[in-house]
Formats: sequence, structure tokens, C-alpha cells
Amino acid sequence: MMIKALYIHIPFCLAKCKYCDFNSYPLPVFKGRVDEYLGALKKELLMLSKEIPLGGIETIYMGGGTPTILDTGQLLNFMKCLKEIVDFSNVDEITIEANPGTITQEKLLALNNVGFNRISIGVQSLDDNLLKHMGRAHNAEEAVAAVTLARETGWSNINVDLIYGLPNQSNAIWMDTLKKVIDLGPDHISAYGLKIEDNTPWSSDYYNNLLALPEEDSVLEMYETLQAILGDNGYFQYEISNYCKPKKASKHNTVYWHNNYYLGIGSGAASFYNNQRFYNIKNTGQYLDCLSQGLRPIGELLELAQEEQISETMFMNLRLLSGIKIVDFKKRFGISPIDKYYNEIKKLSEMELLDVNEDTIKLTHKGIPLANLVFMEFV
Ligand code: SF4
Repeated sequence: MMIKALYIHIPFCLAKCKYCDFNSYPLPVFKGRVDEYLGALKKELLMLSKEIPLGGIETIYMGGGTPTILDTGQLLNFMKCLKEIVDFSNVDEITIEANPGTITQEKLLALNNVGFNRISIGVQSLDDNLLKHMGRAHNAEEAVAAVTLARETGWSNINVDLIYGLPNQSNAIWMDTLKKVIDLGPDHISAYGLKIEDNTPWSSDYYNNLLALPEEDSVLEMYETLQAILGDNGYFQYEISNYCKPKKASKHNTVYWHNNYYLGIGSGAASFYNNQRFYNIKNTGQYLDCLSQGLRPIGELLELAQEEQISETMFMNLRLLSGIKIVDFKKRFGISPIDKYYNEIKKLSEMELLDVNEDTIKLTHKGIPLANLVFMEFV
């Protein structure tokens, strides 16, 4: 299998959100080293291009962090370097993640002109109280302005990221956000339930009983609200947390869900190639030091046995509502998923969590919100 997707990690943000455990830092921490970081990315990609064929790349995703915190010149220069190293002949989706407060008309026009054709905007909520509590660096009005500006500057594939299950969030507040987002007409909506991650300000608040999280039933109600409102407004749910207008599914994330090969560059980025999963050094300072010495910045390398790949492919494919294509699975692993997991699949079908026919295995409507229970059977 060829590498199909390239991920580029930009670990800088305006400020650190209180729930965030991504590998990101407020920009002032690395202010003097941003160009060095971009140079290191280029160096890493060049090193990889000598070992790994990059001609099969179909999607590129610049994520973070907040890539649009970089100035226009830095972004354009980086894209130029990318085009010198990567064969773009098969690339048809190039996404950049953006946050309100880091985009201008000039930047959006330039990015679109240079080849980025999809933008993913971190809106998260359109309730000012919630945004403030989350530590987001923008308010609702600025988030609306960011999505509107992206559309006005010609972006034809816009994703909006949302979070539900937030402290003090009611279903009514969530519904209000959803309706306002729909009015903005994004092509794609990713909506994730909040997870309290360790080593974040919200995890300390949680353990000190300072976080008024909604009950499990309320979170489920929000998930059902999401499915209903988006469904009624022409969005097709194609993955547990992702909805799109026709033909606007994320090609990049679909590579992950199909458990195909991808390459990640930048501090903390993950890659999967040649039956190996490797993770770059997470600490950005150490990542830079490593590349300055001409070394590959690998922090951890795992050889994945066939068994592990089968298990991962099962639950990654099941995230997609189209499910597992039995013929593709058999072609890849030489065994039918039904033969491999006969008892598990039988049990989950009897519980009405999986729908199985001769071509596919997929989550049922009842199984979608209980997907984690289903996945545990294949781990
Ligand atoms: S903007 Fe995104 S990556 Fe940056 S701190 Fe907030 S949640 Fe994390």
C-alpha cells in the first residue's frame, strides 16, 4: 500500500483552551522559533521522501494547533516547499485548520489561490458563556464572522468543528448553536462529545468537582438532537461524529478510518506505513533539536502484527456508517471478518448493534451511540 495522506502539524495557538490535550502551545512560547519549526518540517519531509514513496498522496491536511496563526508569507512559502518535495499529481484535497481571530480576507484569498481547497474552522460553540468557560480565544460573533469570511473569499469546502456535552450546556443551548451553524451553510460539520483529558485545566476542575458536566442521558439527547437537526437540513451522517453535504466527506479522515497508510510530520505527529506505526517526539523543542542534528525525530515505533491491524481495521472501518466492506477486508487480510470474529459479530447482531449482510458489516442506528461498546469486542 502507498501512503495516501500527509498530515502536517503546526503546534501553535493563540492561547491554550482549557479542555485541550493536543500538542499545542500558546505562540509566545515559541515566538522566535516559528521559522525554525517550518524549516524543520521541510527537513523532515525531505528525509522521509528519500525513504518512502510519496507519489500516492491524495490528501494533505495542515492541522494543529492553529496553522492559520502563521502569517500569510510563512504559509505560502511552506506550500511552495511542499510542492517541491511531494508529487501533487494525485492530490485532490488540501485542508487547513483555522481558528477565528487568525484569518483575514487577504490570508484566506492567498491560501485558496495557492491550492488549499478545504478549510476546517474551530467554532466549537456559538454560546459566549460556554466559549469563555472553554478558554477559547474568540466569541460567537467572531466565529460566525470567520465562517462567513471563508465563504465570501471563495472557499467551497468548509468544515465547522463543534463540541457538545460541555459544562453548563443544555440541549436548548446546543440546539441554538446547531441552528445558527446551519444558517452559515458549512459543507461539513464535525461534532464531538467532550472528553475530559488528563493534564488539562478541566481535568483538575473535574476531579475537584468544579465542572458542571451534563448527565449521560442529556449528552445522549444532544447527540440525538444533532442527528435530527443535521439530518433535517440536508447533512448526511457518514461517520460517528461527522456529517456532510453530498460529496463533501473528508477524504483525509477517510484514509484514517479505512486504516490506510499515512504520513505525519511535525512534533508529535503519527504515521502508519509498512506495518509500522511511528510517533514523532512530542516536545517541540526536542523535535527541533533532533532535526537540527539531522536525525529523524521518531519518539516511538511500533511494529503492528497482522492481528493488531485486523483489530484496528475492524473498529476504524466501523466508525464509518458505510461499515466494513467484507470483500475489501478479505482482500487485505486473507480472511473474512465474519470468520475471524464470528462469536463477537453474532452477539452484537443479536443485541441489534451491528447490521450484517453478505457485503457489509455496519453499526445499526442503535449501535451508533454505543459504538465504543461495539469496538471493545474487537480489541
Ligand atoms: S485552538 Fe484547538 S489546538 Fe489550540 S488550544 Fe484550543 S483546542 Fe487546542
